[in-house]
Amino acid sequence: MAAASLSQFFPRLRGGIRLIESAEIGTIGVGEATIPPIIEFIRTLGFDEDDVVRKTQATFKLGIGFDDWTRPGHSYIHPFGPIGVPRRGVPFTAYWRKRLEGGTAAPLEQYSLPAVAARQAKFMRPVRAANSPLETITYALHLDAGLFAAYLRTHAESRGVTRTEGKVRDVTLRPDDGFIDSITLESGERVAADLFIDCTGFRGLLIEGALQTGYEDWTRWLPCDRAVAVGCERSGPLSSYTRVTAREVGWQWRIPLQHRVGNGYVYSSQLMRDEAAQDILLSSIEGRPLRDPLRLKFTAGRRRLSWHKNCVAIGLAAGFIEPLESTGIHFIQRGIFLLLTFFPDRNFRQADIDRYNRQCAFDYEGARDFLIAHYSLTERTGEFWRHCREMELPDSLQERLELFRSHGRILRDDREIFTVQGWQAILAGQDVRCAGYDPIADSLSNEQAQDALDEIRRAVSQCAATMPSHQDFIARNCAAPVG
Ligand SMILES: Cc1cc2nc3c(=O)[nH]c(=O)nc-3n(C[C@H](O)[C@H](O)[C@H](O)COP(=O)(O)OP(=O)(O)OC[C@H]3O[C@@H](n4cnc5c(N)ncnc54)[C@H](O)[C@@H]3O)c2cc1C
Repeated sequence: MAAASLSQFFPRLRGGIRLIESAEIGTIGVGEATIPPIIEFIRTLGFDEDDVVRKTQATFKLGIGFDDWTRPGHSYIHPFGPIGVPRRGVPFTAYWRKRLEGGTAAPLEQYSLPAVAARQAKFMRPVRAANSPLETITYALHLDAGLFAAYLRTHAESRGVTRTEGKVRDVTLRPDDGFIDSITLESGERVAADLFIDCTGFRGLLIEGALQTGYEDWTRWLPCDRAVAVGCERSGPLSSYTRVTAREVGWQWRIPLQHRVGNGYVYSSQLMRDEAAQDILLSSIEGRPLRDPLRLKFTAGRRRLSWHKNCVAIGLAAGFIEPLESTGIHFIQRGIFLLLTFFPDRNFRQADIDRYNRQCAFDYEGARDFLIAHYSLTERTGEFWRHCREMELPDSLQERLELFRSHGRILRDDREIFTVQGWQAILAGQDVRCAGYDPIADSLSNEQAQDALDEIRRAVSQCAATMPSHQDFIARNCAAPVG
């Protein structure tokens, strides 16, 4: 993603970008669910979206469904895009909450077309249709990350990026200022450069191995530190959302691709053995496993500095919060966007670096709080979930929840990754109560508020009825070649 983007936006650099990677080490081998900005990434690079879908065995994603998360037997969806519409300047969730208190509002997801369509395994892209929810359909992709990386590599190489297959053995720092001077490959080749982008995954070979930038550990809030993942054969209709199911210690994902289903179990090694987690995963997947399960270890957190001296860490090298809201690939996209925004010259001005790092910290912390909210606001019992419910929250999240609990309001900085609707969907989905609804809703009478709700629900349901099934949409537009 980084090589493809830099070669796209800085044509002058093209001949000077080198991508060094090792097939022997390989990539992490997981990471299949994305969030809507990925579509912007694909378009910005000038790719044909259907071509990407076809070549990466991708499917469309309208949101994330949380099963048994609030409590066993309960299910809600965090859909992408808007939920409802404001009426006479009153935010949708304000008058929805007013009628919820009155006992006449339906669950929030019934006012979202992506959520209703996801429940029916339907999909289509937005179309021009004034004042219709069909106009605002918002979506992301589930994709085979290995195929996507290959797709991007071909693109980058066609724009003059040189790819070198080889392992980095040593990193040499400049004695005077500690900047990276060069890396040495196992072949003995020495590669010097002005700027190094560390995409070496959890290893953080340059940013940590050489520059020792330090890591902020968030395990106290996000206690899962292991995952086991396996792909399996697909059965049943092609769903158009990621499904996550809460388990006794952690949770399980299900990501539908065209050629298989990706499954994984994320858990805490404090409370669950790897073998037990693997057994639970293998006993709950819908089809024959396609390979041996892959076991992964991680520590939730972020690098203290994503950019240090002449090294910018992107991807897992910069940090990782678990995949519950599919943020991994998005952080790569954000890192690239910020690097393009603050792209240095050989002087590496500290003001650019500091601003880049502040924005990265803000991004990671915002997503961290969003995930912690999922864990801490649950009625589930058992040691793992009790710990999550009782843990002390970061002040930033505590403040947000207090504001929400007073009048159901979500206040959000423009630069945050997750939207007001996303927060509302999670907090409503997890049955978080408010002391009262936002008094601005009283500018609508009960009848007016109810009429607005009924109208939206009807429109959503009618639009969903006109949508094709996800399976048909893909078959018609972007099916991957069989085999
Ligand atoms: C359990 C789990 C589930 C996830 N699920 C999702 C998801 O659903 N959605 C999502 O967006 N993200 C997800 N992620 C995150 C996602 O997998 C990563 O963000 C994404 O794959 C990018 O990884 P990366 O390129 O940073 O690292 P990696 O994939 O680990 O790549 C590292 C690269 O560095 C190279 N390398 C390493 N050391 C050397 C060396 N010495 N010499 C030469 N080359 C070297 C490797 O060959 C490889 O090419 C998940 C992560 C985990 C752990």
